[in-house]
Amino acid sequence: MFGRLPGRANSKQRSGSNTMALIVQKYGGTSMGSPERIKNVAKRVAKFRAQGHQVVVVVSAMSGETNRLIALTKELTTTPSPRELDVVLSTGEQVSIGLLALALQDIGVAAKSYTGAQVKILTDSAYSKARILGIDEAPIRADLDAGNVVVVAGFQGVDERGAITTLGRGGSDTTGVALAAALKADECQIYTDVDGVYTTDPRIVPEAKKLDTITFEEMLEMASLGSKVLQIRSVEFAGKYKVKLRVLSSFEEDGEGTLITVEESKKMEQPVISGIAFNRDEAKITVVGVPDQPGIAYQILGPVADANIDVDMIIQNVGRDGLADFSFTVGRGDLDKTVNVLDRVKAVIGATAVEADRNLCKVSVVGVGMHSHPGVAAKMFQTLSVEGINIRMISTSEIKISVVVEEKYLELAVRVLHKAFDLDLDRAA
Ligand code: ASP
Ligand code: MG
Repeated sequence: MFGRLPGRANSKQRSGSNTMALIVQKYGGTSMGSPERIKNVAKRVAKFRAQGHQVVVVVSAMSGETNRLIALTKELTTTPSPRELDVVLSTGEQVSIGLLALALQDIGVAAKSYTGAQVKILTDSAYSKARILGIDEAPIRADLDAGNVVVVAGFQGVDERGAITTLGRGGSDTTGVALAAALKADECQIYTDVDGVYTTDPRIVPEAKKLDTITFEEMLEMASLGSKVLQIRSVEFAGKYKVKLRVLSSFEEDGEGTLITVEESKKMEQPVISGIAFNRDEAKITVVGVPDQPGIAYQILGPVADANIDVDMIIQNVGRDGLADFSFTVGRGDLDKTVNVLDRVKAVIGATAVEADRNLCKVSVVGVGMHSHPGVAAKMFQTLSVEGINIRMISTSEIKISVVVEEKYLELAVRVLHKAFDLDLDRAA
């Protein structure tokens, strides 16, 4: 796979046929979970160096460490100052970079570690969910050109005033992609404990297949619907800056992983549907008997938004006798809060009732191919009807059709749809 990396425009040719590339590799907490595993990471990095590539490594804290740090702060206060919380949470990654640099040096690979503040990765001041504003990549380049592997702490940055910030849980993915974008790397490789992105969760459908490629748009749909392979912000970032992003296993020697592409695959065999995504965490609210007149949707959803509640699907049925029903879904954790908000709104707009339905889930078929293939929705609905699964809500986009069904049908729905769309068939690579 390494030989297939495209060379950079200014890359130096080595004596052999290998073209030198600049690669950013990110290793997650599981890959960094013990001294033994850190040694394995070092070996993998060394292999790339031996082939002449320049390597920047981004690491997470050792598995469990960030949770341990959060628990520690909770023993001292239930209302930590966000600034100091980030000071504590960022330390896990500092340990990781130092340990990996030592492990690399121990096997004869020149390496230098940097915290986010040292690089520097400039962010805004939104502690615990900071956004990256810029990266000073010149010193990294100088280190690489001097023959070093550069090891950078994931998940952290520094704001204008010099305060340490963190990027949100799972944020090391975003550090990796941002560095790849800033350095115009040939590829950003995310090493994790799965060997790629699957057509659906293999724990539900054992026949699920690893995808060779998936587009950014599809990945965003899959990620936001519960496949937790990548932090969603990193995917958005990669799409925006056209970073070549690959997800691979750090426990496999030679896997190709899944490449996340900008373009639709040109393969003849490309299926219409790429995957089945799902989300268990759906609850539905119906405001019954609202007046069918302008401004009602705003009067209902305005206060919901003001309460900081995320709304997913929205449906208003056709009015009859001047009244309509207005339904939408929220995360289950927000259900009680939403009902409270709407009980107040109900009186103002003169609605009949507010009904809540907790035990729902969302199942979606995702694929860029569907915009050029009619009949996907019909096939999905037929497949569910054969199983007697009642569809409670439907929403569609260019590349996704989602249905809300009772949660007890989740596994069944995912399984029959996976089969109906031929996702369990082997495909020639
Ligand atoms: N260590 C941080 C976390 O556990 C960041 C990361 O792993 O990407 O969320
Ligand atoms: Mg992660």
